[in-house]
Amino acid sequence: MNKKIAIIGGGIVGASAAYYLSSLPGGDQFNVTLFDAGAGQATKAAAGIISPWLSKRRNQQWYQLAKDGATTLMTLARRANLSTDIYHQTGTIITRTNEKDLHDLFILAQERRQDAPDMGTVERLTAAEVKERIPLLTNPQPGIYISGGARIDGEALVTTLLDQAQQVNLTVKRGKVSLDNQGNLITATGQQRFDEIIIAAGPWLNELVEPLGIKVAVRPQKGQLIELAVPDYGSQENMPVLMPEGERDFIPFGHGKLIVGATHDDEAGFNLTATPAATQDLLNSARQFADYLTEGDITRTKVGTRAYTPDFAPFFGRLKGHPKLLVAGGLGASGLTTGPLIGRLLAGTIIYGGTPDWSNYEKPLTNYFS
Ligand SMILES: Cc1cc2nc3c(=O)[nH]c(=O)nc-3n(C[C@H](O)[C@H](O)[C@H](O)COP(=O)(O)OP(=O)(O)OC[C@H]3O[C@@H](n4cnc5c(N)ncnc54)[C@H](O)[C@@H]3O)c2cc1C
Repeated sequence: MNKKIAIIGGGIVGASAAYYLSSLPGGDQFNVTLFDAGAGQATKAAAGIISPWLSKRRNQQWYQLAKDGATTLMTLARRANLSTDIYHQTGTIITRTNEKDLHDLFILAQERRQDAPDMGTVERLTAAEVKERIPLLTNPQPGIYISGGARIDGEALVTTLLDQAQQVNLTVKRGKVSLDNQGNLITATGQQRFDEIIIAAGPWLNELVEPLGIKVAVRPQKGQLIELAVPDYGSQENMPVLMPEGERDFIPFGHGKLIVGATHDDEAGFNLTATPAATQDLLNSARQFADYLTEGDITRTKVGTRAYTPDFAPFFGRLKGHPKLLVAGGLGASGLTTGPLIGRLLAGTIIYGGTPDWSNYEKPLTNYFS
C-alpha cells in the first residue's frame, strides 16, 4: 500500500516538496496531500529576485544554501518547463554611487564566480550602459551586471508546481489544519492518519507545534511592495532586475509591469493591510530611478509575512523526538531562492530515508527549537 504523506503549507517550500515527491524517482510510491490556509503567504507576495551571489552576509551555510538554491531553480525551470513569465534569467544589475564601492563589488563578484559558475558573466557597466539595458530608468547609476540572476513570479510558480504534481500523486486541500499533542494531523472533519508530515507553514510554525510543547525561534515580519504600469518596451521584455543601494529593488516584469519592493516591518507582524505610508515610501524610492512615476501608475499593492530566525538563517529537517514530522522555516527575505532546494531535500529524505548531513547548509535544528 502507498505511504501517505501530508504537507502543511502551500508556499514555495510546500509546493516544491510536493513537486519533487511527484517527480523524483520513487516518488510514485506515495500519496501526498497538501493543506494550505492561503492567507498571508510570503511566496505570493514576494518580489521575485534570485541573485544571492553578492550578498555581504557572513553566514557561510546560508550562502551555500542560497547559491545552490539559485542553481536548483535553473534546473527546476527546465525540468518543469516553466515559461519565461514564471522564471526568467534576465540577469541582475547591482548599482552603487560610490566608485570605490563599485570597484569592491566587482572584485567580490569575480571572486565569488570562481566557485559559482552559474553566476554567468560579470560585467562593469557605466550609467549609460545601465540605461541601455533598463530603458525605464531616468536616473541610472553605474553597476555590476550578473547574467545568471533571475526573476520569478512566486504565485505562478507554486500554482504550476502544484498543477504538475496533481497530475501524479498530489491532492490539494484548502483550509487550515492543526496538530494534536501526538503530532497527528487534525482537519475540520477530524484526525487523519499520515505516515509522515512536512510542516512548511512559514511564520505560523509556532502555532502548529505548540500542542507538542515545542517553541520555535521564528518571528513574523510584514513586507509590502507595489506594482506599477510602466511603458511597454515591446522588444525589451528581458530587462534585468535592478538592485540599488538600500532595500528597495526594481523588478521590470516586461509587458509594461514593474514591481518595486519591499518594506521590512518588524512591528506589524502578521498584519496584512497595505498602508498608504509604505506605498508612498516605495513610490518615492521608485521615483529616484524613474522620475515620471506617479501614484496613478500604481496598479496593485501586495503584502506578505516573512518568517525570521534570530540568525536570519533557515532551518529544515526531521523533528527530534517526532520521527514522522519534518519541518522547514525561517526563510526570511531570500526564501524564493532557498525554498525549492529545501523542498527537494525534504522530499528526498522521505523517498530515500536516512538522516542526511546538511551541516553545509544549516545549523543544527536544536539551535532554533526549545
Ligand atoms: C514582500 C516580500 C518580498 C520578498 N521578495 C523576495 C525576493 O525577491 N527573493 C526571495 O528569494 N525571497 C523573497 N521574499 C521571501 C520569500 O517570499 C519567503 O521567504 C518564502 O516565500 C517563504 O516560503 P514558505 O513556503 O516558507 O512560506 P509561505 O510562502 O509563507 O507559505 C506558508 C503557507 O503555509 C500556510 N499555513 C500556515 N499555517 C497553516 C495551517 N495551520 N494550515 C494550513 N496552512 C497553513 C500559509 O497560509 C501559507 O500559505 C519576499 C517576501 C516578501 C513578504
